[in-house]
Amino acid sequence: MRLWIKDPLAILAKGAERGVVVEGTRIVELVGSGKTPAAPVDVSFEASRHVILPGLVNAHHHFYQTLTRAHPAGLDKELAPWLVALNSIWARLKPRHLRIATRLALTELMLSGCTTTADHHQMFPPGLEDAIDIEVDEARKLGLRMTVTRGSMSISKKDGGLPLDEIAEDEDAILGDSERVLKLFHDPKPGADIRVALAPCSPLAVTRGVMVGSARLAERYDCRLHTHLSQTLEEEEYCQETFGMRLVDLLEETGWLSRRAWIAHGVYLNAGEVARLGRAGVGVCNCAASDMLLGLDVCPVKDLDAAGAPVGIGVDGSASNDSSNIMEAVRHTLMLGRQRYGASGVTHLDVLRWATEGSARCLGRDDIGRIAVGLEADMAFFTLDELRFSGAHDPIAALVLCGAHRADRVMAAGQWRVIDGAPVGVDLQALMAEHRVAARDFA
Ligand SMILES: [Zn+2]
Repeated sequence: MRLWIKDPLAILAKGAERGVVVEGTRIVELVGSGKTPAAPVDVSFEASRHVILPGLVNAHHHFYQTLTRAHPAGLDKELAPWLVALNSIWARLKPRHLRIATRLALTELMLSGCTTTADHHQMFPPGLEDAIDIEVDEARKLGLRMTVTRGSMSISKKDGGLPLDEIAEDEDAILGDSERVLKLFHDPKPGADIRVALAPCSPLAVTRGVMVGSARLAERYDCRLHTHLSQTLEEEEYCQETFGMRLVDLLEETGWLSRRAWIAHGVYLNAGEVARLGRAGVGVCNCAASDMLLGLDVCPVKDLDAAGAPVGIGVDGSASNDSSNIMEAVRHTLMLGRQRYGASGVTHLDVLRWATEGSARCLGRDDIGRIAVGLEADMAFFTLDELRFSGAHDPIAALVLCGAHRADRVMAAGQWRVIDGAPVGVDLQALMAEHRVAARDFA
């Protein structure tokens, strides 16, 4: 079927003033000003109320944390005590909790215009061995693309680490399960719905064997590598004291300074490290809300961008943001970027590029992230029918500056997944009721 998405109010694509034609899962034509589609279409969708963006891509998250938003144990704490307090609560996570948390986080993301997301899942308490399987099942049911990362922690309290001993795994278990889920779910081909990446929680949270072994598996299975890096000054100091090197050196030593890797945060990178990451093609996901909430500094996003490193945007975990709204994250990134680079230093087009093409590059994808012929038909449609937009002039700038937060329609792989602001096939009230009951187990 050929679908003409016709005459949008505005669209973030050049030469598509009269819209785009979608066939199957892909965009097959951009229709320029004064033109009509080159071949007959089967159906048209009138988009004159809609501002159309490429489907937004969330490059970092922890779905399970939706169960512990605004948790009294985590309020007003610095990162390390925050992690210690919540790790003991997250250790209660069971398969049914993760399933409903994943469904809710994916739905929340989708309603904000997200069509592809990463999830960094590193909690594997006994009984939750199938965590990745559960997340894949839920993403497939909703129709969102996902790079699910098989996270890991092998250094626990008994070895001087932060996590409880019962949620740490040994090296063989981590690498064995990484290979299992790669074989089962990872699809490196263009248009993939599910990809798997390997993601030690931090290079300081696992033994070097896990870092090196993950990098080797990534080569063998053609997958990505992900980790938290340079989030706080304390971790840089700890790395220096313990290993006599900085975190980026540790990445290099373990085979991670490569185009396969993207990191979350990257707040305390120095100028030399920015250049090294740029040369190596390591992606950096800016997690603005989380960085602000935890009182951290500002990621050098523009410098990374200029150095050639893919820059993406992530909502980060819902316990260090309390929201899974990717459009909100776009606005946060603009505001925070201007703190560092000034009013003309970061534009609305920069942050939209980072949240689409940039995040897609972090995930190693060039088949999504732009509205262009041959790319997957992943798009987010916003209206300007709310008070917050009234009087706005530039429709695309308005989405970022006036604070768009809910998509009217979302298309992923050529299928409508959100229609009139509602997720297709999801009963939101029932979803929230089930999620609230599950969250009580973490009180
Ligand atoms: Zn995180």
